[in-house]
Amino acid sequence: MSLPPDLLPALKRYYGYGSFRPGQLEIITAILQRRDLLAILPTGAGKSLCFQLPALLQPGLSVVVSPLIALMQDQVEGLQRNGIPAACLNSSLGAEESRRIQGEILEGRVKLLYCAPERLLSDTFLPFLDEVQRQIGLSGFVIDEAHCVSEWGHDFRPEYRQLERLRRRYTGVPCLAFTATATERVRQDIAGQLCLQQPFTYVASFNRPNLYFEVRPKQSDSYRDLLTLLRRSEGASIVYCLSRKRVDETTARLRQDGIAAVAYHAGLSDSTRSENQRRFIRDDAPVIVATVAFGMGIDKPDVRQVIHYDLPRSIEGYYQESGRAGRDGEASRCLLFYSLSDLKTVDWMIAQKVDPQTGEPLEAEQRVARQQLRQVIDYAEGTVCRRTIQLSYFGESFGGDCGNCDNCLSPQPQVDRTVDAQKFLSCVARCRERFGATHIIDVLRGSQKQRIRELGHDRLSTWGIGRDRSVDEWRLICRSLLHQGLLEETTDGYPVLRLNATSWAVMKGQQIVKVALPHQPQLSSTSSQLQQEQLFEQLRRLRKQLADDQGVPPYQIFADRSLREMCQRLPRTLDAFGAIAGVGRQKLLQYGDTFLAVIQRYCEEHGLEEEPESLGSLPTPRAGGRRRGPGQTHLQTLQLFREGCEPEEIARVRDLRLTTVCDHLAQLIEDGSLTEIDRLIAPEDLARIAVALEQCGGFSLKPAYEALAQRYSYETLKLARAWWQRQQPPV
Ligand code: ADP
Ligand code: MG
Repeated sequence: MSLPPDLLPALKRYYGYGSFRPGQLEIITAILQRRDLLAILPTGAGKSLCFQLPALLQPGLSVVVSPLIALMQDQVEGLQRNGIPAACLNSSLGAEESRRIQGEILEGRVKLLYCAPERLLSDTFLPFLDEVQRQIGLSGFVIDEAHCVSEWGHDFRPEYRQLERLRRRYTGVPCLAFTATATERVRQDIAGQLCLQQPFTYVASFNRPNLYFEVRPKQSDSYRDLLTLLRRSEGASIVYCLSRKRVDETTARLRQDGIAAVAYHAGLSDSTRSENQRRFIRDDAPVIVATVAFGMGIDKPDVRQVIHYDLPRSIEGYYQESGRAGRDGEASRCLLFYSLSDLKTVDWMIAQKVDPQTGEPLEAEQRVARQQLRQVIDYAEGTVCRRTIQLSYFGESFGGDCGNCDNCLSPQPQVDRTVDAQKFLSCVARCRERFGATHIIDVLRGSQKQRIRELGHDRLSTWGIGRDRSVDEWRLICRSLLHQGLLEETTDGYPVLRLNATSWAVMKGQQIVKVALPHQPQLSSTSSQLQQEQLFEQLRRLRKQLADDQGVPPYQIFADRSLREMCQRLPRTLDAFGAIAGVGRQKLLQYGDTFLAVIQRYCEEHGLEEEPESLGSLPTPRAGGRRRGPGQTHLQTLQLFREGCEPEEIARVRDLRLTTVCDHLAQLIEDGSLTEIDRLIAPEDLARIAVALEQCGGFSLKPAYEALAQRYSYETLKLARAWWQRQQPPV
C-alpha cells in the first residue's frame, strides 16, 4: 500500500514535526491497513502520535483506553491545543457535558475519544458505542499502557481484563496495543489477553541514547551531592526513594534547603497526591520525591533528571523509572546512588514477603526478588558500559561503548587493594567472624568507642591499622570483597561478616584484589552556553506564565526541545519561528508574536544575530569566534565604563536593566576587553568568591550565592565568575 500523500504535511500541521521517529511510519502504515497491532516502544519513543495521526486521517472514531483518568484531561487539552479534535469521557464530567460531547461525537466532530477502561464497559456506554458504529464508524480501539492486562507486569489492572469483551462485540474493529514493557512474558500475555489477530508487531530497541546513566556510591555527604544536582538542573527532576518515610524525610530536608520539592507516595491522601503530581507536571514544583508508586503513565516529556537516591529493586523497575527522564528526546541524566546499607533495607523488605493468609514466607517470590536485587548490584558495581548491562537484561545485545554513561566516558580505573583487603579480612578473623562491617571498620580505624573497649578489641593487632583510609573507602573495599565472593555475610537480619576459602587465599597472598574506583563527575560550560541558558530561562518563564494563564502544563505550550531550538536559531520572523520543530500552524498563530518579542529583546541586549542558515549550533555574536570581540552594544557599555561610569550609571544612561549591563561587562571581562575588575569588585571579595566558585563548579551561580551566605548579589557573582573563568587554563 502506498502512503497517503498527506501524511507528512499532517505531521507538520498538527504536531509541527518534520519527520517521523523510528518505527512510527511502520506502525502508522499498519494501522491504516486496519490490522491489529502490538507496538512495543520504550517510554518517550512517541507512541501517542502513532495512533493519533491515523485516527485523524481515517473515517470514524478511534477510542483510546488509558488507565489514568487524572491525566486524561491534560492529554486531551494538549491535543486540542494542536488543533486535533479529541475528547474524553470520564466520571468527573457532569451529565450535560457528557451529553454535549456525545452529540459532537455522533456528528463526527471528534476523532479521538479517551476513556477509562471501567467506563468503556459500562452498561450505558456500550449502547452509545453501538450508535457510533452505526452512524460514523469505529476506526479502532487503542489500548495504551497495554501491559496493564498482564499479571506478570508491575501495573496489573483487573479492569483491563474485561477489554476482550470489546473484541467480541465489535469484531472487525482493529485493536491496537501500545506498551513500553520490556519483558517477553508480558508481551505474550498482552497478545493473548486482548485476542490480537495476527497483529503487526513492532518491537523497538530499548536503547534510549539521550539518557546518560551514572552510578555513584552513596556516602555520608551524598545529600550534598543530591542538592547540587537538583540546584543545577535545568528542568524537572524525580527523586526516587525506597520507602514513604525516606520520601518524607528527603522532601523535608530539600525544602529546608530552599528546593520546592513535593512528595508522592501511597501514604498520602488522594487529593494531596494528585495536587503534588499536578504541581510537578505544571512546573510549579521542580522536584518530586517519590516511591515507585509514582510515574506510570506520567507523560511529562521534559523531566531532565531521574535520581534514585535509594536502590531500585530490579533492573526492569530501574529501566522503567529512570526512563521517565527525557521523553522528549533531549539529553537527560539518570543517576543511581548505591550503598550497602540500602541493600540491607531492600533485602529486609524482601524477607517480609509472606503469604497474607498463612503468614508463611513466600519463598519463591523471595528468591526471585533476591535474584533481581542481585542484578541491580551487578549493574551498579559493573565496570562495563551501563547500557550493555541493561539491554542484555531485555535480550537485546548492544556493542558497548555507548559514549553516554559514566563507565564509557571515563572507564573506572581498577586499583590494586590487596593489602587493604588483607587488613580487612584479618580484622574479620581477629573479631572471630562475629561482627558486621561497621564494627570491623571501627576497629581498623582505631575507634575508642566504649563497646570496642568493652570487647577488648582495642587490644587486637588489627586495631588502628587502617587509619589511613576513610570510612567510605573501607566500605567500598568491603563491598567489593562481598561482591567478588571474597567474603560472605549472613542474611538473617543481623549481617555478620564471615570468611570463606578464598578469603584465606587472599590473606595468604595467593590472590590479588582489585577494586574499581568510583567516579568524580565534572560539569563545565562555555560562555556561549551560559548565554543560551539565560535565554532558555527567559523562554521557560514566558512559557510558564502562558501555561498558568491557560491552566495547562507548560510542555503543552512548547516542548523543551522547541525552546532550545529557539535559543539556537534566534528566529526573528514568524516564518523562521514556524520552522522550529514543534511549532505547528495553530501554535504559530497563537504564540509566535509573544515568543518572538522576547527573543528579539534578548538579541538586542546581547548583540546577537539570527542564525544565518537553518543549521548551526550556538548564537553568533557579530564578531564570531571563541575569544571573540564584543558586539556593538557591549562596546558602548565598555566605553562608558572606561569613562568612569559605574554599572548603575551605565544602565541609566543606556536605558538598560542593570543585569543586562552586568552581562555585557561579564562578557567583556571574559573576552579580555575589560581588565579593571578591581573597579567592580574589591580584591578580597573577589578572592572569597573565587574560592566559592571553585568549590561549587561555577556552572550555576546559586550554589555559590548560598555558600557565600547570600552576601553578594548575583550581578557581582556574575562578574566575578567571568574573571574567574578567564583565569582558568584553556582546555
Ligand atoms: P510515549 O507514549 O512513547 O512514551 P509520547 O507519545 O508521550 O511517548 O511522546 C514523547 C515525546 O516525543 C512527545 O513530546 C512527542 O511530542 C514527541 N514526538 C513524538 N513523535 C515525534 C516526532 N516524529 N518528532 C519529534 N518529536 C516527536
Ligand atoms: Mg504514552
